[in-house]
Amino acid sequence: MAATRVPCPTCGKRVIWSAELSPWRPFCSERCRLLDLGAWFTEERAIPGEDTPAPESDDDADGNDLN
Ligand SMILES: [Zn+2]
Repeated sequence: MAATRVPCPTCGKRVIWSAELSPWRPFCSERCRLLDLGAWFTEERAIPGEDTPAPESDDDADGNDLN
């Protein structure tokens, strides 16, 4: 009897494709499922190469001259 197995998208662990044994398939566990969703949202927010270049702040320009 050959059980179908799929790699967990989060950790790569082999998950037996069975509703009884693996209710979180294709993830191996609820934790991996949540982690995958979390990673997805994180990537949504932090787009690579989107960091805004900080404008050069002139400290000694006309500002609060306390000295
Ligand atoms: Zn996993």
